[in-house]
Amino acid sequence: MPSMQFKHLRVCEILDFAALNHADTEVVSRLADGVVRHGYADIRRRARRAAHALTGLGLGRGDAVATLAWNHHRHLELYYAIPGFGGVIHTINPRVSPDQIAYMIDVAEDRALAFDSDFADLVKAVAARVARPLQLIELTAGPVTLPGALSYEALIEGASEDFDWVSGEETDRFGLCFTSGTTGEPKGVAYTHRSTVLHAMACCMAEAQAVSSRETILPVVPMFHANAWGLAHSAPMAGARLVLPGRQLDGASLLDLIKQERVTFLCGVPTVWQAILDTAEALGKSLEPLRRAGMGGSAPSEAMIERLEAGGADVFHAWGMTETNPSAGTGFLKAKHLVEPAAEQRKRKVGQGRPIFGLERRLVSEEGAPLPHDGAHAGRLQVRGNWVVDQYINAERTAVDSEGWFDTGDVATIDGDGYMQLVDRSKDLIKSGGEWISSIELENLALGVDGVAYAAALGKPDRKWGERPIMVVVRRPGHAVTEADILRAMSHKLMKWQVPDAVVFREGLPLTAVGKIDKKALRADLFA
Ligand code: AMP
Repeated sequence: MPSMQFKHLRVCEILDFAALNHADTEVVSRLADGVVRHGYADIRRRARRAAHALTGLGLGRGDAVATLAWNHHRHLELYYAIPGFGGVIHTINPRVSPDQIAYMIDVAEDRALAFDSDFADLVKAVAARVARPLQLIELTAGPVTLPGALSYEALIEGASEDFDWVSGEETDRFGLCFTSGTTGEPKGVAYTHRSTVLHAMACCMAEAQAVSSRETILPVVPMFHANAWGLAHSAPMAGARLVLPGRQLDGASLLDLIKQERVTFLCGVPTVWQAILDTAEALGKSLEPLRRAGMGGSAPSEAMIERLEAGGADVFHAWGMTETNPSAGTGFLKAKHLVEPAAEQRKRKVGQGRPIFGLERRLVSEEGAPLPHDGAHAGRLQVRGNWVVDQYINAERTAVDSEGWFDTGDVATIDGDGYMQLVDRSKDLIKSGGEWISSIELENLALGVDGVAYAAALGKPDRKWGERPIMVVVRRPGHAVTEADILRAMSHKLMKWQVPDAVVFREGLPLTAVGKIDKKALRADLFA
């Protein structure tokens, strides 16, 4: 039957397109020793060399390669080189512990690990813990700092750029990213070529992130977590100029970069925006030429939105998660709401935005019954669509129900126009500076301290970090365990930023009807 053509959606075609049509559009990288610039055509040449070099090391179709790296051009090249030879890029968050990283590498069955020199000590610790040996590749132009590692630049210098991307199915895995589990072990989400290309196309929609060739985009959101909100794909797809900040992510360094590189659109979690705004105000500097402020991961305050708008930046705030590739909505207001007073508009912008085509949302009650989208009923937020997880890697069961709905662990309201407002979390996690801390893990550690009878971990609202963990503890009768005892014991098992800020002692804890600790009541009591 006469019909339309069918072509598998493959990630590397994005870079081919950018190299052909936006050859000299810059990818600017700030490295420890200065700024380097490449056009998209250079990035493609280097990615093809890298693919050649990696196959020369014996890597091939289906092999997973891990990365522990900041946002820079070498990481971007690997985003294409690894799927380009048929492999799977497994991006790893360097802020988690060596044990967890080793666990993720083992589950993903990674064969190689490409890392920034900053992480050499971490890589050494990880390499000593993994079940299988890893080929180590240090992302440096200089001599390697880790004995046994190969130099990325030396590898690609010796490789030919004559490399044809491996062809395959659109349902092949492109990448992997792990998300925090509420009960300990992280869970791996495998993105397909199809989900990633569709997600990038969606991000380019004017209605979604409006990524375009008229923007210079600075992704502070890391390439090591959830594909930097898709920008590593949507920016080359649209031909947007990219400014990659490397490891210097403090307010002053970012403000300098905005000005020096004429950044128009920056994406970061509210903690990053807080640092940029505080620095700009302390130094009496403007945000110019920034026009757009993208934020997500945690909710901003109305005050933050007001400060950004006063600085001339239009705020775009939306919701997403590792399990949704990750962007899952739009932060733009509809025309009929743009005529509302600014304060009303800001109230909408602190909410988590509307859905875009390709991804459905619904609310259900605790019993699973669909709830109306009337802005009043709060329910468990479920999503389904072309870039929503179906099954975590190595999981025995699917992550969705029989109709394909994935339960996000967020609790929300949705109004008749589709605007969503998160009101709670059913997953027991605390989000600090965009990074997760498991309440259950904190509670288990506290309960392991002699003299602790009951423990509850809560996320205390924090101006800088969004939330900071605190512990509420009930002592066992006759025990005099102190805050210092508990925090000292916990700090042996946690990364520094995961250690609670304080321990509050109580005589008892409020319980729900089913006998669980009533964290809602505790929060109301402690943070009201
Ligand atoms: P992650 O998988 O680490 O990206 O985290 C996803 C989770 O972060 C969501 O399920 C929410 O709990 C939270 N989150 C993401 N975006 C927002 C937002 N805009 N406002 C509040 N919480 C958010």
